[in-house]
Amino acid sequence: TKVGIDAGGTLTKIAYQTNGSIRYQSVPSADMEYTVEWLSSQLDNPDVCVTGGKSELLTKKWQAPAKTMVEFDATTKGIEFLANHQDQALVEPFLFVNVGTGTSIHVVNDGKQERTGGSGIGGGTLMGLAQLTTGIHDYKQIVQLAGNGNRGNVDLKVKDIFEGTLSPISGDLTASNFGKTEKMAAYAPENADILASITGMIGEVIVSITIPTAMQYNVDQMVYIGSSFRMNRLLRETVSKYTIMLEKTPIFLEKGEYSGAVGAMLSI
Ligand code: ATP
Ligand code: MG
Repeated sequence: TKVGIDAGGTLTKIAYQTNGSIRYQSVPSADMEYTVEWLSSQLDNPDVCVTGGKSELLTKKWQAPAKTMVEFDATTKGIEFLANHQDQALVEPFLFVNVGTGTSIHVVNDGKQERTGGSGIGGGTLMGLAQLTTGIHDYKQIVQLAGNGNRGNVDLKVKDIFEGTLSPISGDLTASNFGKTEKMAAYAPENADILASITGMIGEVIVSITIPTAMQYNVDQMVYIGSSFRMNRLLRETVSKYTIMLEKTPIFLEKGEYSGAVGAMLSI
């Protein structure tokens, strides 16, 4: 069995081929022992290619031979494969933005990627700030609550400042993330509201730092990948709306968080 593994900072993504179809599995990177056990017990005769920041850690535990691959190239290959199979036409140059534990931005031209930037604001930021502000650690619980929160109890919009006066920019834009201090002093926001605002801030930062790169490289399509979008409709919507508002085309691939693993699997 051909197996591609992307061992990331938070999650280890596994893609493998059985009977012509691809299967996907993800496990916490903190438990490499489990990953190695899973590989040897679930898959017969695995032929492994590993990528991602924790590749070394994994290959050390994996006693059999394994190929390794540069993560960014694996991801590019995986994105092209997934887009192709989902009838999603990608026009070069395009950008991909990998929102993992942290965020990494890349431009792809002639099938080759170049990393143009990144940010420490990513999925790990959601987990960390959620933990600090609400004490909640569970990812599913965080995204579910965030989905029901009201950012209006926490974030200051442009129209909140320009009361009655015509503002020079859209009143719906965020003027200040977490800036609604007066309201918050009078009425403490719910955990759901706080989590919605954290999610919104992360989405807005990601788009804001990506747009100048899109302009510089004359790119229209922005492919957003990474497990941070998993089950997280609010993050997806925030990123999507803001990208469209800035006149670029957002693309979310199904199983996009497995791009690196798929690319590694295809390189065997
Ligand atoms: P990096 O690429 O930065 O090394 P990574 O590859 O591990 O990290 P991803 O797997 O793409 O990163 O995304 C990790 C993020 O996905 C987490 O920070 C969290 O926001 C989100 N996430 C989705 N599902 C889970 C889960 N089951 N447990 C924890 N985090 C999850
Ligand atoms: Mg990753």
